[in-house]
Amino acid sequence: MADYEVIIIGGGPAGMSAGLYASRAALKTVLLEKSMPGGQASTTDKIENYPGFPEGIPGPDLMLRMDEQARRFGLETKFTEVLAVTQTPEGEFLIKTSDGDITSKTVVISTGAQSKSLGVAGEDKYSGRGLSYCATCDGAFFQGKKVAVVGGGDSAIQEGIFLTKFAEKVFIIHRRGELRATKVLQEKAESHPKIEFILDSVITDILGSDKIEAVKIKNLRTNEVKAVSVEGVFVYIGKEPASGLFRGFIDIDERGYITTDLKMQTSRRGVFAAGDVRQSPLRQVVTAVADGAVAAVSANEYLEHLK
Ligand code: NAP
Repeated sequence: MADYEVIIIGGGPAGMSAGLYASRAALKTVLLEKSMPGGQASTTDKIENYPGFPEGIPGPDLMLRMDEQARRFGLETKFTEVLAVTQTPEGEFLIKTSDGDITSKTVVISTGAQSKSLGVAGEDKYSGRGLSYCATCDGAFFQGKKVAVVGGGDSAIQEGIFLTKFAEKVFIIHRRGELRATKVLQEKAESHPKIEFILDSVITDILGSDKIEAVKIKNLRTNEVKAVSVEGVFVYIGKEPASGLFRGFIDIDERGYITTDLKMQTSRRGVFAAGDVRQSPLRQVVTAVADGAVAAVSANEYLEHLK
């Protein structure tokens, strides 16, 4: 007899939504989360495009509400790291965690995505000591200081604007001459007195002693290299799916995203995937919660089929 009917791996919006729908369908469900519940959405200062909140809502607030709602329907949450997932000859799923083994009849994978790293000298040394992937978490440490933000997408521009609340100056360093971010964010940043763009450029080195003192920047058009004094570096150059654990167990595309059908069913029956870890044309909170709902309903159908 399996411990659970549904095990959800990952507690971002997709996992919370799957948890809400599965618990509300009276399925014995547990959500496993490695660290902070809420996923990437919890590290976002303000979410302006989640329907129902016309003024926008801080990411952590939205995720707390999702957590509260899922718990109201009986979702159990365990803080533990999943180390491996296998299937027993009887067809149950065996989840090895840092706190022991758990079995389940179905699995929903909602492990999301993690920030891509820059891959430049000094990145490891200064990670957590001036170099950050989360302005919401670390921005307040840079009151009155100069910081650099790397990237040209929505995250870099939105978080760059957020950092102006604290920093005296925000340099946005982007490898091309044009930004990828939506027009409305671009215009906000371009007219901001504290923001300066350094385009067609990449960071080649992070310089300092025990703290960051400057970044070395290379202009890709002219090959000119200069040092710019900053005390913080925020990296927003995209994400990569957190799917490594499932390689060989289910199908994953060449970029690391889990492939599913419209019902969120993966290549292995009984295993579903939802949210940013899944191959999909759009990765937003609104699509993650939709995926989570579909995955839970599909898990329920699968369980009915087993009976
Ligand atoms: P993204 O859209 O993939 O943008 C990544 C940026 O980093 C791009 O400008 C890219 O340059 C640059 N980049 C990639 N690799 C690099 C490298 N090795 N060195 C230097 N620069 C590099 O990622 P994102 O901004 O995190 O956004 C992810 C998704 O979330 C997007 O769909 C976005 O729309 C969404 N999002 C939405 C909002 C919002 O709606 N308000 C807020 C945040 C995120 P290139 O442009 O040259 O490729």
